[in-house]
Amino acid sequence: MDAPKGFYERTSKYLRDLGIGVSDKVVLVGGIGTLGSRIVRNLARFNFKKIIVVDIDFVGPENVGYQCYHSEEIGKKKVEAIAERFSKYHPWTKIEPYFLEVYTLSSLVTIRELEKYDRLIASSDAVISTFDSAGARATSLLLAFRRDKVFVDAGLGVTRGYVKILKEGYCPICEKVWEDQVRYYTNPNLAEVVAAFVVQAVLYTLSGRAWPSEITINLDAPFSPVSVSEIRNERCPLCSEEAKKVSLEDIPNFLMEKIY
Ligand SMILES: [Zn+2]
Repeated sequence: MDAPKGFYERTSKYLRDLGIGVSDKVVLVGGIGTLGSRIVRNLARFNFKKIIVVDIDFVGPENVGYQCYHSEEIGKKKVEAIAERFSKYHPWTKIEPYFLEVYTLSSLVTIRELEKYDRLIASSDAVISTFDSAGARATSLLLAFRRDKVFVDAGLGVTRGYVKILKEGYCPICEKVWEDQVRYYTNPNLAEVVAAFVVQAVLYTLSGRAWPSEITINLDAPFSPVSVSEIRNERCPLCSEEAKKVSLEDIPNFLMEKIY
């Protein structure tokens, strides 16, 4: 469906002014909870060709309002609830739901599920990971790296959030998987700001514009809420040449061996 006139006059004009074109791009969002559901909402405001959403969770009463879900969606699969609703609000962007478990080291994921996730990543231009589990984030990074995709890793602590991008000389997962403990609560304002940075990072990197390797946001430090680092690190096993040669079947063993 064609985007309405107002859409072209506003969002598209901004993109054109910056020389950013995403109307032929596909973005995959892995994990659509507190951060991921907001990222989908923000992505849908730009004219991406398609947004692929991957999650294995259902909408619970605790998600209503706090995440981007409505009360009448309780009990539904998150991927279906979000795809249905945003397809209504943004009919010019295709939103494809996949109720799919991503390999987490402790979960029993079949090779078929891993193959399916790999195919979805292959069909995307950018992959955003917001998974709580280190294993799912590592799996996403590894598959995106093997297929030379833009990869953004984003997460929320209680007061701090981060946005990290895979680029030459920098890997979001090298050295530390996630220094803050994952909690099930955060500041919703923080989630809003981090989601906005994630989408901006995707717009910039897909257009070949420069973007810093790490951004950390802390809204409880109101006089310096954002810290930006352009750093390099040594390559970890996940983004090594070795990782490109491992067969898909051997990826679970490879991850197990290299992460733990
Ligand atoms: Zn790495």
